[in-house]
Amino acid sequence: MEKIKRLEDIIIAPETIPEAGIEDEVSVSPEAMSEVIKDEDLKVTKPFHIHYVVEREEGSDTIHADVDVAGEVETFCSRCLEPMTHKVEFRLDTDYIPALPDMAKDLEAERSSSETGYYRKNVRLGDYIVSELVLALPIRYICNEECKGLCPGCGANLNREECHCETPVDPRMQKLGDLKDKIRRK
Ligand SMILES: [Zn+2]
Ligand SMILES: [Zn+2]
Repeated sequence: MEKIKRLEDIIIAPETIPEAGIEDEVSVSPEAMSEVIKDEDLKVTKPFHIHYVVEREEGSDTIHADVDVAGEVETFCSRCLEPMTHKVEFRLDTDYIPALPDMAKDLEAERSSSETGYYRKNVRLGDYIVSELVLALPIRYICNEECKGLCPGCGANLNREECHCETPVDPRMQKLGDLKDKIRRK
């Protein structure tokens, strides 16, 4: 598998696409991936693998790209604060059509949907993967849907132990209790 220095280096010159298309798989180093992700709370320790197929649509200038991205990031669960691994896996499917002369230099900014992008001399597939990667990451990381988190009272990890904090009493139930007491005293 070819190693590439930067995700942005995945660039395809349309005239080099043979009739059968191009299929390739590249790996991107953890350091390069960290630069793209730009999040101190996410650590990349293994290379990411990018598999892509690029084909020219017969009899037109449209170029079709299918991309599979696979990798993982190390982070901490936002509920229990334990270290965890989050798998990053997604698939992209997009067309590229020739850019209009008045479009901005950064053609990714001209994209109005994830299905259609633009190219000038080259198809800058890497730029597209960078922008989609950031969107594919969750806002909060949770080790497991069932994670019970930490006790707000004593900080115990409730996945591993039961603590002896008293369950906070709902104020409405408290009032009802007081009322019952009063009735009983009469
Ligand atoms: Zn957790
Ligand atoms: Zn507790």
